[in-house]
Amino acid sequence: MKIAVFPLDDSEIKPLYSDPNKLRFCELFTDRMFTMVYNSSTGWQNPEIKKNSPFQLTPSTIVLHYGQEIFEGLKAFRACDGSINFFRPEENAKRFNRSAKRMCMPTVPEEDFLESIETLISLEERWVPNVRGTSLYIRPFMFATDTKLGVRASSNYIFCVILSPVGQYYPEGFNPISLFVTENLTRAVKGGIGEAKTGANYAASLLAGQEALKVGCSQVLWLDGLHHRFVEEVGAMNIFFVYKDVLVTPRLNGSILPGITRDSVLTLGKHLGFKTEEREISIDEVVKGINSGEIMEVFGSGTAASISPVGNLKYKYTDNIINNGKVGTISLKLYNFLLSLQYGEIEDPFGWIRKFKSKEFSGVA
Ligand SMILES: *Cc1c(COP(=O)(O)O)cnc(C)c1O
Repeated sequence: MKIAVFPLDDSEIKPLYSDPNKLRFCELFTDRMFTMVYNSSTGWQNPEIKKNSPFQLTPSTIVLHYGQEIFEGLKAFRACDGSINFFRPEENAKRFNRSAKRMCMPTVPEEDFLESIETLISLEERWVPNVRGTSLYIRPFMFATDTKLGVRASSNYIFCVILSPVGQYYPEGFNPISLFVTENLTRAVKGGIGEAKTGANYAASLLAGQEALKVGCSQVLWLDGLHHRFVEEVGAMNIFFVYKDVLVTPRLNGSILPGITRDSVLTLGKHLGFKTEEREISIDEVVKGINSGEIMEVFGSGTAASISPVGNLKYKYTDNIINNGKVGTISLKLYNFLLSLQYGEIEDPFGWIRKFKSKEFSGVA
């Protein structure tokens, strides 16, 4: 891919954040973005890096009406030796294309997906923060840009990558969250788009999120859409239940987003001597297990927070407290292992770390 790089004026270069410890999640974005455009007769064209600036969209642009959009989320970590690590970015490239197929959108060659990110970071390297727990969040996304309002797959798309330096997810420490089990709202159903990383799933989740906040919970525990009986996900994370020496997570069933952190936890769990089970797990089993003490820990998994311990599950307006509301040792162990890998503090036995190599870039001819 031949990427055109448009130089920025000095006035367009933002001052760096002053304190990496005060960075929040995706509030600040770097100076530049990557874009390329697609047309069904010519394919992908005009890959370029330029100032992070607004898109000009006609009001009838189709994504604004019918939501044909997908995205990814991954991170670049400043390793302890000063180099930059990616964590399994090839998996994000693959998942992006699976999402694209589900949403009738064009795929992006995996090598181009990775090259767009690596070239952009070659120009934006100074934005990768250097405190353990902080990172540069990478947000690739694609949206439909036809301007006729017929309901059909668009013939034109924009693919874009933006970057945001993000702080520690738990600036006040690693605190367990409370979950609200929704009995009537549904995030996704089998045959729907729950497996795809698309904005519509997030829109569908907002109302239950508001209900959770009203009852003092920070996130929603999603049950299956058909029976509201089997556990699926927590907020926008996958979920794990820790029995004595077994890690249990819902089997990928068509409505669950196949998280890369989820897959990593399964592998890591086995490596650390746990048994792992991917199976259906009912809310009744969960409530019983928590109250009998058989379920010792519960945690969510996702790129943003890595591991997110759960301290309470509010079901039918009753609290079910997990591990006395404290962070469990196994959650902590998995969290620390993942972070040690990502920050290059330990050998990577799994081949998950991809070393960032600065890409050559030249200005526009
Ligand atoms: C992105 C996402 C996840 C987590 O996936 P990771 O690859 O681990 O970041 C889980 N559930 C939903 C709904 C998601 O969008």
